[in-house]
Amino acid sequence: MTDIAEALRLDDVDELAHFRSRFTWPDGVVYLDGNSLGALPVATAGRVEKVIREEWGTGLIRSWNDADWISMPQRVGSKIAPLIGAEPEEVIVADSVSVNLFKLIAAALAMRPGRKVVLSEPGNFPTDLYMIQGLEGQGLSVQRTAEADGIEAALDDDVALLLLTHVHYKSGRMHDMINLTKAAHEAGALVLWDLSHSVGAVEVDLNGCEADFAVGCGYKYLNGGPGAPAFAYVAKRHHNVLQQPLSGWMGHAAPFAFSDNYTPAPGVDRLLAGTPHILGLAALEVGVDIAAEIGIAALAEKSRRMSEFFRVAVTERLPDLELVSPIDPTVRGSQLSFRHEHAYAICQALIAQGIIGDFREPDILRFGFAPSYLSFDDVFKAATALVELVASGKWERPEFSERSKVT
Ligand SMILES: *Cc1c(COP(=O)(O)O)cnc(C)c1O
Repeated sequence: MTDIAEALRLDDVDELAHFRSRFTWPDGVVYLDGNSLGALPVATAGRVEKVIREEWGTGLIRSWNDADWISMPQRVGSKIAPLIGAEPEEVIVADSVSVNLFKLIAAALAMRPGRKVVLSEPGNFPTDLYMIQGLEGQGLSVQRTAEADGIEAALDDDVALLLLTHVHYKSGRMHDMINLTKAAHEAGALVLWDLSHSVGAVEVDLNGCEADFAVGCGYKYLNGGPGAPAFAYVAKRHHNVLQQPLSGWMGHAAPFAFSDNYTPAPGVDRLLAGTPHILGLAALEVGVDIAAEIGIAALAEKSRRMSEFFRVAVTERLPDLELVSPIDPTVRGSQLSFRHEHAYAICQALIAQGIIGDFREPDILRFGFAPSYLSFDDVFKAATALVELVASGKWERPEFSERSKVT
């Protein structure tokens, strides 16, 4: 049986344990929702305040050059690159994941004339499917979906692009990026990976598997803050042909020439559309710096150990609670999901005790294990609270079972 002594022993030998103090913690909270909104780094407030008071307040417009605001999308992107197996000049920070999906789906379709199908899977994160459907509304794409085990069979001569989320947001299941990328290429299709639930938590090797495109989220395991800008990756071999539809002035080869005609900037710079969000980039950079300092190998290793510790602590006490995530930690992301018909009420009752996980429709309890700041003590406390609650039925109180609008 796992116990608190084992949790404390694991914390004792955890080489990342001291990174916990780089984050801000409210009292009495165990935070297992860093896969939805990462925690606040201690340094973020000071950094953003400096940007506001000094760089903006005093530097004014001069700060585009003096504080190097102008190159922040490239600079922060280049720091994300080693976390995902990319070259520094292959990654840029801009807009949201949704908008970057739109740009890259459209760019991929333009590179495969005669093909219109974008293949994805049912139950993918909604925005990924909605963006395919938005382009379908423009007459540019046709959505096709196939269940995970039928994806390879659904790749044919009509498929321009395979768009998948590497780690599934609900189940935590991780796709085989190497083999699916290879299968898509053999069918003549391009591949776009959504790394929103991967970056900063699991190993990703975009170059190693010759992925074409990727996007990912700044506010989950990168701890960039609510609505942090997202990133986009384009393999170097596509840089010269990449044509994206949001051809804004910041993606122009010479934005300050104010020419009437659009000429795309070299490389990933052409993925910029409008003026970069400097305050958002400043906050994101603090989170990215911490992840880069730790390195993805150590982050991924700790995340596997933590999710496995939680899984064992729960299942050895509650063997009937249905695990939706893969049991093998090497094929799941940094999260565990369980199915329970009263998942919503249980989630609310846990939050009332300070154990913050989340609920996903219709019956999923989801717990994320952010490796840069959680302790095994946290993980054991949360597992114990879940076990005791489910065993006791105390979540059946009316205040926990009424479903509120915001989940
Ligand atoms: C969180 C998440 C997003 C977020 O998209 P935004 O446009 O930045 O809100 C997109 N895709 C996946 C798979 C996600 O998990």
